[in-house]
Amino acid sequence: MKTEEIWGFPVDVITYDDIINDLPNYLGTGKKMSVISVNPQIIVEGQNYMNIYKFVKQSTHRIPDGIGVVLVSKLTGGKIKERVAGIELMKRFLAYADFHKKSIFFYGAKPEILADAAVKIKQDYPNLTLSGTIDGYTALAEEEVVANINQARPDFLFVALGFPRQEEWLAKNSPYLNVSVFQDVGGSLDVLSGHVKRAPQIFIHWHLEWLYRSLSDPKRLRRIMQLPIFVFKSLWWKVRAGNDKKDH
Ligand code: UDP
Repeated sequence: MKTEEIWGFPVDVITYDDIINDLPNYLGTGKKMSVISVNPQIIVEGQNYMNIYKFVKQSTHRIPDGIGVVLVSKLTGGKIKERVAGIELMKRFLAYADFHKKSIFFYGAKPEILADAAVKIKQDYPNLTLSGTIDGYTALAEEEVVANINQARPDFLFVALGFPRQEEWLAKNSPYLNVSVFQDVGGSLDVLSGHVKRAPQIFIHWHLEWLYRSLSDPKRLRRIMQLPIFVFKSLWWKVRAGNDKKDH
């Protein structure tokens, strides 16, 4: 598997199929697959979180989850051709878990959203086992959350606490989790529960999902502002990294 560096962050040149085909190397083998969405937000804001940076570096699958990441790769002669969207990958994991009768656990999202997501998952994927859920606003202590997850012994753990909470939580707790596959999934449970709509297909087709989501959620407008900064700084970083190599 090839890896590229964007503003210091590793991103893997990888497809949905590569990841799914890799699952048997992890499920039930004692090895842990950590799937992290590398998007412009984590790269820009992650510069201030050494623990998150280290965790991304150690993760087994760093997916290019954002058209900005694909764009920078293309502009710098990289090999990343397509976005691997966290929510799409999650759906493929769910389909795999359904087919192979595996178990899953959700940690994160608001209680009512989590409850609706659980109902929907049981309807859409009747052969998987939802071995537990904990909402993202629980009064449980961190160790209790870990203990509950370990007691449920899920194959897949989806952590939906948003950036940077979910990455910080995983960085700290993944060594203690007896789980084969874990993924940070941001607001995916909001979408899977039916509470938040994904962008219409036409926006997804033209890689403009970020525009649709930003316009329909003012909180996300800030992220649009991040995009040009992200592209500029990433290109600048590449120039400097190239010069450093020449100097040595
Ligand atoms: N969230 C949570 N606990 C918190 C903060 C956020 O469970 O303390 C959940 C929130 O309810 C939402 C998800 O984290 O379901 C992330 O939402 P956001 O849209 O910010 O994340 P993104 O998809 O952009 O990463």
